[in-house]
Amino acid sequence: MTPEQLLAPAMTFPQQGRPAEEILQELRDRKAGDVFWQGGRAPAFMFKAEAQVDELGRAAFTEYFAENALGASSAFPSVRGLEQEVVAMALDLFNAPSGAAGFMTTGGSESILLAVHACRQQARQHRADARHHGNIVASETLHPAFDKAAALMDLEIRRVPVRPDLRADVAAIDAAIDDNTILLVGSAPNFPYGMVDPIAELSRIALDHNVWLHVDACVGGYLAPFARQLGRPVPAFDFALPGVRSMSADLHKYGFCPKPASTVFYRSAELAALQPFSFNTWPSGRFVTSTAVGTRPAGGVAAAWAVLQYLGAEGYRRIAAEMLAGIDRYIAGVRAIDGLHIIGQPDLAIVAWGSDTLDAYAIAKRLAQRGWQPSLLKRPRAVHRMMSMLHVETVDDYLADLRQAVAEVRAGGADAGPALEARYS
Ligand SMILES: *Cc1c(COP(=O)(O)O)cnc(C)c1O
Repeated sequence: MTPEQLLAPAMTFPQQGRPAEEILQELRDRKAGDVFWQGGRAPAFMFKAEAQVDELGRAAFTEYFAENALGASSAFPSVRGLEQEVVAMALDLFNAPSGAAGFMTTGGSESILLAVHACRQQARQHRADARHHGNIVASETLHPAFDKAAALMDLEIRRVPVRPDLRADVAAIDAAIDDNTILLVGSAPNFPYGMVDPIAELSRIALDHNVWLHVDACVGGYLAPFARQLGRPVPAFDFALPGVRSMSADLHKYGFCPKPASTVFYRSAELAALQPFSFNTWPSGRFVTSTAVGTRPAGGVAAAWAVLQYLGAEGYRRIAAEMLAGIDRYIAGVRAIDGLHIIGQPDLAIVAWGSDTLDAYAIAKRLAQRGWQPSLLKRPRAVHRMMSMLHVETVDDYLADLRQAVAEVRAGGADAGPALEARYS
């Protein structure tokens, strides 16, 4: 971003207050120009299971609206209990061995930052080198949260190109490992193509090299187990694979929990003990936090606990069945449109389509004119969607508009407006 883009709007601090009702009405009015996410028009950012889940999440969040999870160990033992139970339920879901441990965080990026930091701590301890930097090796489809972590911690990231079938190239990842490699990462699934990396093979090479393997199941963690239980061919990705030392999984994605809520797990309590930050040399008392942030909303903790309790495995399976059947319908509908194809072999709920004969971005632009906010891939040029029930409920509308957009692009004609840019946020 340029400094100009960061300039705040011209506005002064209000000298007088305003009536609450007027302020709330202004907030509602201000949303008018936002994407119509309730109608599935946002390509990501929003996740829906069913209305009852949203309502319970909101109610549970409100119940703990005021409490601060920073004080979970002292002032709010109930928050600590809820958090520990969320972690315990998830460790069971992810086939963790006894003795495993984890934490709730405010998001996937924070979970990843913390796991990378724990790994760097261990590498420094093992090498008896308090300044060791080291590298991370992963497929090029790795989420940029790892690059953010690497930038903050001065680590090198080696992104290895995917194979022609767009799957992670494990042999090339293996070849990129050297003496300074401290971390391998596999995604379940990756963000661009929605494909689960071959975690079983990564687990084997992690054990061979005795290198830490983290599984970024941020987007798929709370969906993949239920898809597998439904008999879908989703590869193994969790602690059942012995080389997996840590995992991240976002409750605020396919856990259908209110934001902010994510989880990070370690195969053993010894590894987990690398995460918390402790400080005692200042005029105040001992300061210990398990996460990167200090103050954080207890609402996210209570709401996650409530949603997990409400749905249980049976509820998550039911929603996964309905959602994945809807996504199958979407995939079949896209494939039925002459000139379009699905990118790779998506394993879960991220699906991208492209075209060999038409410009996918030109089609995306026409969809955007119909209110469908595009999310674009650069390699290959494609249109990407992170789908939940919001998108499943509107599959037919989307496909109808997509057919029209394709027909218009095929017919040629003016392509008005500025070119679209592939961007995530
Ligand atoms: C969403 C996502 C993240 C980051 O999660 P945030 O909650 O947005 O910080 C990391 N990895 C993958 C694969 C993701 O899809």
